[in-house]
Amino acid sequence: MALPAACPLCKASRETQRVVTSHVYGDRAGRAFFRCDACSAIYLFPRLSPGEERALYTAEFESFMISRSGDAGGWAQPERHIAANQTTVARRMNYLRPVLPAKGRILEIGCSSGFMLYPLIADGYECAGVEPSGVFGDYVRSRNVPCFESVEALLADPGNQPGFDVVMHFFVLEHTAEAAAFLETQLKLLKPGGVLIIEIPNAADALVTVYDIPAFERFYWSVAHQWYFTETSLKFLLDRLGAPYEILRDQRYDLSNHMGWARDGKPGGMGRYTDKIGGEIEEAYKQALIKSGHCDTLVGIVRKR
Ligand SMILES: [Zn+2]
Repeated sequence: MALPAACPLCKASRETQRVVTSHVYGDRAGRAFFRCDACSAIYLFPRLSPGEERALYTAEFESFMISRSGDAGGWAQPERHIAANQTTVARRMNYLRPVLPAKGRILEIGCSSGFMLYPLIADGYECAGVEPSGVFGDYVRSRNVPCFESVEALLADPGNQPGFDVVMHFFVLEHTAEAAAFLETQLKLLKPGGVLIIEIPNAADALVTVYDIPAFERFYWSVAHQWYFTETSLKFLLDRLGAPYEILRDQRYDLSNHMGWARDGKPGGMGRYTDKIGGEIEEAYKQALIKSGHCDTLVGIVRKR
């Protein structure tokens, strides 16, 4: 196994780097995830080459997600993808509403089918997206929403210059090799007082750190992820931006899903037992995980000075 010379985030030496797992979903090249004891970052090593990363982000990414979700997430068709993500929209709106300005320009990096943008456009925001996937990018443009292959392509468009009120991305940061530089670029796209919103998986997820389910271990650590952050490592990353921020906790998966993992070692099953155990129990379970910090999702909210 190849060993990292230093932490890619805090640069701590080899002595503080240790293996988390060598089960990397989708990898056939002997990669592993390492954890840095100094900053708590978990990272893929060796990293994907720029060519491998690009391949994963275009055609490969969509077929990868289909095989991973068994097509239930609806990645094959943008309209099914939008329908499949309406509960996600509702969950995110709970924390977005209090931080969004009353009006303004919103940019989503990695907007996929654009499912987060359409309700915001309906609310009167001026929205644009960045989406490297051709299928999704074409679909978003077909709905007359400006959508660019990259931030560079966005900046080449005279109608989409910096000065956004909000830049947001959901489950994108963990795919990005140069995480700090990625966030610094986004701060430059905001106007002073603008808000950067970052949603990522939480590596302190109870399925990983509490229940110790072997099937989940083999599913969770994905070659599509360069990083897995916890609150500690996300703080380390956001501190470097030199802008005020807060970190929120959220829980996507319910007790039914966790029971499915424990019983069958398989994903899915959201809502399967809800009518038997009751919605109050599902909600109480989510809130308990949020309170203990073993929730599955973290949200960083950064304000540009
Ligand atoms: Zn480190």
